[in-house]
Amino acid sequence: MGGKVEGIRQSDAPYSKVFNTRLWENIQNRISRVLGVSIKVVSEDGSINIPESNFSAVCDLLKTSEKAAAICADFKVKNLNEETGTVKCDTCGFSHFCVSADCFGKKIFIMVGLCADPSWGKAGLKKVSRDYGIDYGILKAASEKSTFFAPDRIKELADLILHLFNVTVELSVQEYIAEKVNKEKEEELAKMTALMEISIVINSTRYLKQLLKIIMQSAERVMQAEASSVFLIDRQTDELYFEVATGPKEEEVKKIRLKKGEGIAGWVASMGASLLVPDVSKDPRFAKRVDAETHFITRSILCVPLKVRNQIIGVVQVVNRLGAESFSESEIKFLEALASQAAIAIENTNLYEHLEERAEQLNKELKKVNINLAIEKQRIESIVQSMEDAVIAVDRENKIVMANRLAEKVFSIKSEQVINKAIKDSISNSEVIDNFSNVLSSKSSLREEVVFKIGNREHVFAAVFAPIIDELGETAGTVAVFRDITESKEIDRMKTDFLNMVSHELRTPLTPIQAYSELIMMRNLDTEKIKSYAGIINKETLRLGGLIGDLLDQSRIDAGKGLSLSPEEVDFKELLNTVYNTFKSASTRHRISLTAPEKAEKITIDRNKIIQVITNLLSNAVKYSPDGGDIHITMEDRDSRYYISVSDEGLGMPRDALPIIFEKFYRVDSPAVKKIGGTGIGLSIVKYIVELHNGGITVESEEGKGSKFTFFIPKAR
Ligand code: ADP
Repeated sequence: MGGKVEGIRQSDAPYSKVFNTRLWENIQNRISRVLGVSIKVVSEDGSINIPESNFSAVCDLLKTSEKAAAICADFKVKNLNEETGTVKCDTCGFSHFCVSADCFGKKIFIMVGLCADPSWGKAGLKKVSRDYGIDYGILKAASEKSTFFAPDRIKELADLILHLFNVTVELSVQEYIAEKVNKEKEEELAKMTALMEISIVINSTRYLKQLLKIIMQSAERVMQAEASSVFLIDRQTDELYFEVATGPKEEEVKKIRLKKGEGIAGWVASMGASLLVPDVSKDPRFAKRVDAETHFITRSILCVPLKVRNQIIGVVQVVNRLGAESFSESEIKFLEALASQAAIAIENTNLYEHLEERAEQLNKELKKVNINLAIEKQRIESIVQSMEDAVIAVDRENKIVMANRLAEKVFSIKSEQVINKAIKDSISNSEVIDNFSNVLSSKSSLREEVVFKIGNREHVFAAVFAPIIDELGETAGTVAVFRDITESKEIDRMKTDFLNMVSHELRTPLTPIQAYSELIMMRNLDTEKIKSYAGIINKETLRLGGLIGDLLDQSRIDAGKGLSLSPEEVDFKELLNTVYNTFKSASTRHRISLTAPEKAEKITIDRNKIIQVITNLLSNAVKYSPDGGDIHITMEDRDSRYYISVSDEGLGMPRDALPIIFEKFYRVDSPAVKKIGGTGIGLSIVKYIVELHNGGITVESEEGKGSKFTFFIPKAR
């Protein structure tokens, strides 16, 4: 008798859950109603207990009596008579036929009944009526209405019902399996969805903690875990610390650090292998102190290593499957997949952090370079601006990119108006414009002298045009530097003029010296003639000597050595007379006169040098009065000074020559002066000597009318 249900492992689920109670209750109620029998199903451990269902009129009546209902409810399997296979109700005497089935290894009893005891009869009905307070007449009528089954029939019915029960069990198992498969599928889908969601999240946020939390919350949800956490290894101490924790004790858990190898997480971190511990109380590796410190109760743990490029950097774990069960082996794979997502997140964050660091560093360097560049630019700009040369730079389109202060002046431009404008539209000198273009196309430098008019004076510039080569070796533009060489050109010219002039001046006295000395040597001349010729030679030699003396004096002054004085007490009036006497008959065309005070004191001066001064002024007066005229020497005693002036009626000088007449080498630029020999040194030495005596010199002159030079010497030195 009985049956066995196979096909489902006991460990999968409690059998009472697998059995579809609702379905069986439905079947049981329908059979009861149709057949008018009572059916009760109870398992030996009591976990399946489907109450008795009975629809007979007698039973309905019995239920109206509280006492009877209570007794019938207490209907026990223990009353089973193994031999007859019946369960008899002590109280009412109704018999139930009992069949049993083996369901998931547990015994199930199915009791089918309502067969009134034949001994009941009238007396029995009366007893029930009496015992339970049910009206006899009603009870009798109900008994007569009740279906009566013979024991054999009841037995057959019981077998049929058992068969139906077995079918229900079978259906329940199939339904359970189908449900389980569906659930697994759903779970797989949830896992896949979670993994996909996480891989999207990884790319959408860069905050590691937030990311790991999202990953772990997803693990927690999909795996129906109570809590989850990510531990990372502290490389300095080799300890594990909670980077992220979820669940009810999140804050407490975060304070915990696990030593190397400590706890399930420590074991996984050091072994590098995943671990499922269905019941931590049975695993000695579990660190009990974590629960003690956090007041959390850990039951099961699934823990997998967290690897970044094959190096274990921590672990990921989920704790306590909700409900009584633990995690399954199949979930290891899912958590491992999650861990590798977490590893990607960590690596991404590290990468970003690294990139950010690098970017920040680059930024700093750039800023520094920019500052340096700005400083350098400013430095170069101020150098270029303050240069004494004009500088213009153009880009590769020949547009002006820079023009310094001097360039503005030379080219009459305003920097802010010409920047970014084509050079050809900015300056007028076509030679310069062409040079800019030529350098740009030829990529080679060009040197040239260019002449510009600045104001109404022509200036000569030495110009260098050079290509600007960028770091790629390309021509980025042209820069031109213009140096004003007008003055040095002038000096060059003056030097040449000076050399010509000096050689001419030296040769002039040499010619008569040579001629007269030859005459003396070659001819037999009388003494008078010889004397006269010798006089000429002497005069020219003195002139030559004076000239050479002037040149030597000037070169001493130029070399910074100056002229030294040999002061002595001199009677100034007597000195003036001496020079006057030498000159007064020197020229037949000039009348030379002297006016001096009657009395004069002796003063301390360099006699020879003052003679040189007066001689120079007198010889100039003679020289520059080619048509003769009066030459007047005046001596005045005024303001503790002696004033000496020499005036003539000669060529005179133009007004603009007066301020520069004492400059060395200066000679009035006129054909009349050119005809007269001279070096332009005399007056500059005169001024130098007078100033050496703490004196001064002035000139008054009118062109064509004559000149008057006046110098003074203080009486007391
Ligand atoms: P030099 O006579 O050798 O040319 P100086 O220095 O003595 O040199 O004179 C400089 C110039 O000054 C002369 O070349 C001349 O043009 C002008 N000068 C000097 N003295 C007179 C003068 N008395 N009358 C007119 N011009 C003079």
